[in-house]
Amino acid sequence: MTPSRPPRSFMLRLLLVLLPGLLAGLMAYRLFMASELDQLAEANDARLDFYRSSLVQTLEEFRLLPGVVGLDGRVRGLLARPGDGDLRDRVNAYLEAVSQDPAIQFVFLLDTGGTALAASNWRDDFSLVGKNYGFRPYFQQAMAGQSGRFYGVGVTTQQAGFFLSAPVVVDGRIVGASVIKIRLDGLEDAWRRSGDLLLLADRFGVSVMASSPGWKFRSLRPIPEAGLAELSQTQQYLYEDLAPLRDALGRAIEPLAGEHRIVTLDARAQPFVDPQQRARDYLLQASRLPDYDWTLLYFTELGETRSVAVTRAVAVSLATLLVLTAGLLWQLRRRRLQERLAARAALEQVQAELDARIAERTEALTEANRSLEERIAALKDAEQILTRTRDSAVQAGKLAVLGQMAAGITHEINQPLAALTTLADNAVTLVERGRGDEARENLGYISQLAQRMGRIVGQLKTFARRGEAPIAPTPVDEALTNVLRLFETRGHRPGLELSVEHRTPGLCARADPVRLEQVLLNLVTNAADAMESQPAGRLDIVTAAVEGHIEITLRDTGPGIPEDVLPHLFEPFFTTKPAGKGLGLGLAISRLIVESLDGRLTAGNHPDGGAWFRLALPIAEDLH
Ligand code: ADP
Repeated sequence: MTPSRPPRSFMLRLLLVLLPGLLAGLMAYRLFMASELDQLAEANDARLDFYRSSLVQTLEEFRLLPGVVGLDGRVRGLLARPGDGDLRDRVNAYLEAVSQDPAIQFVFLLDTGGTALAASNWRDDFSLVGKNYGFRPYFQQAMAGQSGRFYGVGVTTQQAGFFLSAPVVVDGRIVGASVIKIRLDGLEDAWRRSGDLLLLADRFGVSVMASSPGWKFRSLRPIPEAGLAELSQTQQYLYEDLAPLRDALGRAIEPLAGEHRIVTLDARAQPFVDPQQRARDYLLQASRLPDYDWTLLYFTELGETRSVAVTRAVAVSLATLLVLTAGLLWQLRRRRLQERLAARAALEQVQAELDARIAERTEALTEANRSLEERIAALKDAEQILTRTRDSAVQAGKLAVLGQMAAGITHEINQPLAALTTLADNAVTLVERGRGDEARENLGYISQLAQRMGRIVGQLKTFARRGEAPIAPTPVDEALTNVLRLFETRGHRPGLELSVEHRTPGLCARADPVRLEQVLLNLVTNAADAMESQPAGRLDIVTAAVEGHIEITLRDTGPGIPEDVLPHLFEPFFTTKPAGKGLGLGLAISRLIVESLDGRLTAGNHPDGGAWFRLALPIAEDLH
């Protein structure tokens, strides 16, 4: 494999592991987050209830107090006689006594025009006495015969508080209104100290109380024109500018009672100073206070919850990855095992097939071997038969030649013998008769005849020497040189040209030098004899190596061999030479010698004239 890119299947597998791992992580995150949010919301609901009831309790605790104040005779008297200074002092003192509870800021009495006749803070610099509150809703509600409720910033004190009012009724007639203002800053302090994030919104979506000072007097949603007009008329929030408080996307923070939702607040909307200046998610829960047309909002920062969910999701994702990877590895291992088993099975099958084929071949070979052995045996038999036949043929051939020779010799020797007997008898008679000259002449004939017989026997002797010398590598060049030298010493014939061409210098024949030289001398002498009557003649001798044999070819420029002579050329005692000159044994003996050396001696006529004789002998290879 090349080191460049991992194979596609690997990437696919990786994706198969990574994707489900990622998905599992995501799903786990959502599930964890949902369950965490549910748990958180449930816990928060309880806290929200607690804050809600403590708020309601604070507000409701003094609900009946204005009515009770209106029942006091001094109060009623002052309303009847507003100019009575003494009475006013007493009422002031009474109201001051009533406002002793720390939750109560003021208690005051308004006439039917909305002007304060007496107030618990009559001693203070910013006493309410003499101020008109006719524009305030709580006054108008009391004048309408109802108990009034109103949250607002004090026009005189510029402190926010909750106003409770009740009409003072004398003889079925409303003569004034008694009002108390309850402090809520203690409750707000408690909120702040709790560390919880709370916000109380009125019907316009204006935050009137908040655990964080930054969140107070902010508008959670746009206030309609009519609302703005009303606010300015009642001076509910006096000079507060009601800066908008929105989520990170600029949308209204719309509380939905009984449900929870997540809002994202950016740095400007955070309930605290955020040094990281980043948007955070909050779980928002709300609880309605229908009697007051208020909504209490409860916020929980979700950073921690999120990180818990993320941590758990990562764990789930990792676990999934681990399980999937293990599964994948197991699968891979199993597949590899299967592949290995399959490979082994295939190998075994191939092995079995191979074994079968080898067995088949072995059998065929054995069969072939057997038939070969049979053939070899048959061949050996044939060879033996052949050898035997050849031996006997050779033997027969030799015997035939010997027979011929014996007949020839008998014939050749009988004649001189008979002549010898006659000549010897005649010689004896001639000596007895004293005819010495004739007797000497006879004896001369006898001597000639004896010489002739001696020559015949001499020739046969050379043949009889056969087998004496062992067969050995014989240098052909040397044998030729010896023969030519011997031929020269016997008397050079004038006009005879001799040439020797050695095409195989240094080559040796399997022969023995004496017999080889005898054959060669005979051939050279025959050629010279044939060219004797010619004024000039030429004998070419060429040696050559042909198919494991050394061929020595002698070609003369004589008359050639007559057609009728050719078939009898190698017969013993066949000669065309005059009596006394040739015996006709040379070629017969030469052929016998050559064949005894496993060679061949052949003859023929050259197309350009003259005869050729070719002697072929096996090359002695062991010398090379
Ligand atoms: P001889 O030489 O005693 O005649 P050979 O057996 O040597 O006996 O020769 C037989 C005959 O073969 C010769 O008489 C001759 O007629 C013929 N002969 C041999 N050599 C040649 C030759 N080179 N050219 C022509 N005839 C030949």
